[in-house]
Amino acid sequence: MKKTLFLLIILLAAGAVFLSLTRKQKSQDASNGQVKVIASGYVPYTVAKQIAGDAADVSMLLPANAEPHSFEPTPGAIVSVHNADVFVYVSPRLEPWVTDILPSLDKNALAVDAAASAKPSKDPHIWMDFDNMIPFAQAIAQALTQKDPAHQEQYAANLKAFNSQLEELDRQFARGLENCKYRRIMHVGHLAFGNLASRYGLELTALAGTSHDGEHSVKRLAQVVDLIKKSGTPYVFTEPALSQNLAGVLAQETGAKLLPLYTVEHVSVQDAQDNVSYAELMRRNLTSLQRGLECQL
Ligand SMILES: [Zn+2]
Repeated sequence: MKKTLFLLIILLAAGAVFLSLTRKQKSQDASNGQVKVIASGYVPYTVAKQIAGDAADVSMLLPANAEPHSFEPTPGAIVSVHNADVFVYVSPRLEPWVTDILPSLDKNALAVDAAASAKPSKDPHIWMDFDNMIPFAQAIAQALTQKDPAHQEQYAANLKAFNSQLEELDRQFARGLENCKYRRIMHVGHLAFGNLASRYGLELTALAGTSHDGEHSVKRLAQVVDLIKKSGTPYVFTEPALSQNLAGVLAQETGAKLLPLYTVEHVSVQDAQDNVSYAELMRRNLTSLQRGLECQL
């Protein structure tokens, strides 16, 4: 934290030069008629992109294949935030580094915090409950409309389409996970699916906590291997954006097969390049869960 503070002081000293440059840049952006939206990571990025369509310029700070919990923003990233008209993020609980970014925002910029209207939960991965996405998408649409009233109808139409997609996904998850042979998700990753599990009456065992921090203890590994063996589950789940070595060892040790679960916050370089949507990643999750938990439709 001290290192980041020091960095911020240096940046503030250089601020006058940067501000004159960024103001110039800003007026150019405005002349293109594009509102500039910067997202902290992939979840706010993909939602903002869907609500904005081609009317706004949406980018994200987190590089593809980086995870949001322990990311350290580069000085370039902090400076680029000066250019944002709208900054969208999940929460300082999920992304502690966002606290260092927020003071860099222009005083006229709008900040949208996904957790502001989310249900209270121990699990900061709030987008794993579809209900939490409705007020978040609405807040993004409101911020875009405030900065760019000329595209109000487009933002409203995209918001409506997004909400319909959420309703359909929720119906598919509820129906698809109703009648399953197994009801415990054995996840060889971090605790990112707690909200999803509780929404659909499933149990969750994860190897790590709610972030990627820390090494897995030998004791915890042994416990999870034991739980997988006892459960008799033929499948365990893994995060495809993480190294698969550990998951492979656990699969070999327990005889269970691996299926992917997508956290959305952390995507592969390929998925980022393909601009894969939130809905698509959640559909992939449903397919994996139905197969792994042996659900009947
Ligand atoms: Zn996470």
